[in-house]
Amino acid sequence: MKKFCGKGVYGAIAIGRVSVFSRQGTNITQQKAEDPEQELKRLAAAKALASAQLAEIYEKACSEVGEENAQIFEIHMMMLEDEDHSERIETLIRTEQATAEYAVLTAGNEFSEMFASMDDDYMQARAADVKDISNRLISCLTGSSETGDAGSDMHILCADDLAPSETVSLDKSLVVAFVTAFGSSNSHTAILARNMDIPAVIGAGEEFLSAVKDGDMLIVDGHTGDLILDPDTETEQFYRARQEEDYCRAKSLSELKGRPNITKDGREIRIYANIGGPDGVDAALENDAGGIGLFRSEFLYLERSDCPTEEQQFDAYKDVLTRMEGRQVIIRTLDIGADKQIDYFGLKHEDNPALGLRAVRLSLTRPELFRTQLRALYRASVYGQLGIMFPMITSVSEVEKCLAACEEVKRELSAEGIAYSDSVEIGIMVETPAAAVISDLLAQIVDFFSIGTNDLTQYTLACDRQDPALEAFADPHHEAVLRLIELTAKNAHAHDTWVGICGELAADTSLTQTFLRMGIDELSVSAPFILPLREAVRSSTAY
Ligand code: PEP
Ligand code: MG
Repeated sequence: MKKFCGKGVYGAIAIGRVSVFSRQGTNITQQKAEDPEQELKRLAAAKALASAQLAEIYEKACSEVGEENAQIFEIHMMMLEDEDHSERIETLIRTEQATAEYAVLTAGNEFSEMFASMDDDYMQARAADVKDISNRLISCLTGSSETGDAGSDMHILCADDLAPSETVSLDKSLVVAFVTAFGSSNSHTAILARNMDIPAVIGAGEEFLSAVKDGDMLIVDGHTGDLILDPDTETEQFYRARQEEDYCRAKSLSELKGRPNITKDGREIRIYANIGGPDGVDAALENDAGGIGLFRSEFLYLERSDCPTEEQQFDAYKDVLTRMEGRQVIIRTLDIGADKQIDYFGLKHEDNPALGLRAVRLSLTRPELFRTQLRALYRASVYGQLGIMFPMITSVSEVEKCLAACEEVKRELSAEGIAYSDSVEIGIMVETPAAAVISDLLAQIVDFFSIGTNDLTQYTLACDRQDPALEAFADPHHEAVLRLIELTAKNAHAHDTWVGICGELAADTSLTQTFLRMGIDELSVSAPFILPLREAVRSSTAY
């Protein structure tokens, strides 16, 4: 039995077998191949195998998601046979005596960089496909499972770190817990773990990662961050009893379902759920969410290898609005950039991506992308009570441009005879100090604010939210952060604008009383936190 400790980001206990997440291509180094002819033969065999796999996947996709969506695998088959790409791999093997794996990896990187730097959106999107094909070929060459596959049984996933795009593409029904060696508690991977209601520990350290292997027994305590590898019977029994306690607590919290979020002195607030897509609606409803306070629409983009079309976005938004049956649904427009990177966007390298071309800045510099999303949103608006929210606002002029884009889309839809709702509320995220400081001006032009405390903490305290070394400094309870929240609430109410909080701090029950006294109208949290928050509100006073 061995003990390790990380930081618990979602409190629950998991006991199960380990599956170590491996990325293809990360361990391939430049080594001289002894026999280039033999490498060429291995390459040919791997290509044949990859091609057969793709044909099988294409058939499966056709029957499960339709021919149109399956086309991507046909494109992969064509790219696998692409002459320039194949020639480059062969040249690397013949002239540089590269191993087949190294040649595939190198050619894949070169071609994907070339696609990413093209002006055309369609060609940029092919960068991710080239990487996918390289990964598949490398798996065929090494005989390993496909891209980061973690097995088909329930397991505890252990990784060095997980990018948000990797996290969303995992089969969540099989992952009973996450443990990452690195990562920070405000990262989107941690947020996803909370949204998905699974225990997670981050920052477990390199030593942990080198100690675990596939099939090991592991206990993950998401409350404390404790990790027990290969537990003895007594320890396992102790944790099984703790799991039972968690279960009893959840049962007693479930008695709060249907009860109002009202303080002892009679102030009622709204408690909404944060979701990453239609998948999150069931948990929101199960936990009695009053609405959706933050639908992070970028996850629709992250889980694909190509931009979702207007139709695909419309279907997702309509689905969420319909299933929420008239409860408010606030959908945030694309918030890509920083830790949420998408290969097919072909974004240029930035030294400080958190201070870069992200979120609304990207929407405003790619009007077609923005227009497609706004059209899908307005078309879906007739199916429920929609709110549209813009992320990373820093100025009045950005909001004015967003409002103008909304008006333009509405005009277009009217001209085409397409219906949209007149009661869509427009809001912004207050997640930069600039937005909080000028919240008196911004409150005059929007219907609501939602305070993003994750980014507000990062930008106010100048602490990269991704960097685990800064956890000790990135204190979201810092007086500066709390004052900005209070100022935002005061300015919102002075102009009849409602104000909520959708960052992770909203779920921190040690601050519930403080937020109520500031006059916060809505708190939006990961679904599992709704009932504990309701309990905290009901035992607080607001005045
Ligand atoms: C925030 O910054 O607090 C927020 C809710 O947005 P995200 O975590 O997606 O950046
Ligand atoms: Mg944010």
